[in-house]
Amino acid sequence: MKRPVTRRDFVAGAAAASALASIPTAVRAAMGPNDKFDLLIKGGDVLDPSQRLRGVRDIGIRYGMIEAVEADIPVARAQKVITATGRLVTPGLVDLHAHVFPYGSGIGIPADELVQHQASTTAVSGGDAGANNFAAFRRFVVGTTRSRLFAFVHIANIGLTGFPIAELYNIDYARTEDAARTLAENADIAIGIKVRMSENVVAKHGTEPLKRAIAACVMSGVPGAKIMCHIGGVENAGLMSEILDLLRKDDILTHCYSGAPNLQNQFTNIVQDGKLLPAALAAKRRGVLFDIGHGGGSFDYTVAEAAIAQGAGPDTISSDIHVFSGNTPGMPYLTWVMSKFLNMGFSLEDVVRMATITPARAINRVAKLGTLQVGAPADVSMLEVVEGPVEFVDTRNNKRAGKVHLRPVQTVAGGIAYGRPYNAPFSVR
Ligand SMILES: [Zn+2]
Repeated sequence: MKRPVTRRDFVAGAAAASALASIPTAVRAAMGPNDKFDLLIKGGDVLDPSQRLRGVRDIGIRYGMIEAVEADIPVARAQKVITATGRLVTPGLVDLHAHVFPYGSGIGIPADELVQHQASTTAVSGGDAGANNFAAFRRFVVGTTRSRLFAFVHIANIGLTGFPIAELYNIDYARTEDAARTLAENADIAIGIKVRMSENVVAKHGTEPLKRAIAACVMSGVPGAKIMCHIGGVENAGLMSEILDLLRKDDILTHCYSGAPNLQNQFTNIVQDGKLLPAALAAKRRGVLFDIGHGGGSFDYTVAEAAIAQGAGPDTISSDIHVFSGNTPGMPYLTWVMSKFLNMGFSLEDVVRMATITPARAINRVAKLGTLQVGAPADVSMLEVVEGPVEFVDTRNNKRAGKVHLRPVQTVAGGIAYGRPYNAPFSVR
């Protein structure tokens, strides 16, 4: 017999998760004068927006954590050295919206295969799995992946289907209690609920899917459980404002600068007729996070430029990379999307902040994720700042010329490099 699920049912799981979050990622032993760093990243141009740090520094790594950030650490003090002269060295990049459930979804890419293309050390699954298949994501993907993985649980119990029939054409798949339970049971890696609100996903169901997603966050009892709300062309112009009005502080509006039309080819985005919706500005002001989620159809320069000029700038830069978007001319790899914003007038510090500390705080599961502070997990990205003419294209064939782009060079996760120098034994977290 079915009994109503109450908030109390989820509290035990949530409490366990918050206790986990407070345990340090490793126990640090004091380093003696003759102890060596496991790895030294030497001579890089370090940029860490979390501590307003910019300058040439050496980074000493030991036991999987940042042990020292100093002007000069002698090579003799390290077991292994990566020379980073001339490279930009940042905290490991955090991709807040990616599709990293390979084998379990029709669009997923293995997160570790993205590393060479976008230097990410952390990726968040943008709702690939729902209640029916989240266990598969956890057991078969998270456990076998070096990149740190987190996820939004899809409000649809079947997860994100999308191609060719979207998951919420049938609203009965949006199951509040099942999503709440899955979020609570997996709160160490699940950070909230994903819902796709464009007309090509929810048909004529209006705001009901979003209302169920918010109810699932509340019902889960997980502290800080948030919504990742995908937008695109919605059924009518007014519906976009209704969606925006429902979003709460710290909820994430992804594809925020989508210019995709609805099914009647009308433009019902956050910028309509060149004007930013008052509801979008209000959402921004009450602390809704504006996330890029570029993808294959969700970034429009004309929407972005108007929204930014009228007060709704981005908070986080994410890729929305998957097997379809990765083949599009917009090339939505994280470092390429960061490069687009670098050429839209944002500083290097701005774009690195939007792909490190800000998304890490939104995840809020690992102490000091997204920083290079001593005691942080030793996740480090090394990039080349390539000067020279470059052309970018959005997902609606608008082109922009640029003067610089970021190229991934080398990545270290949990103190272990991807590729050389190899670790022996090849032990990772
Ligand atoms: Zn997506």
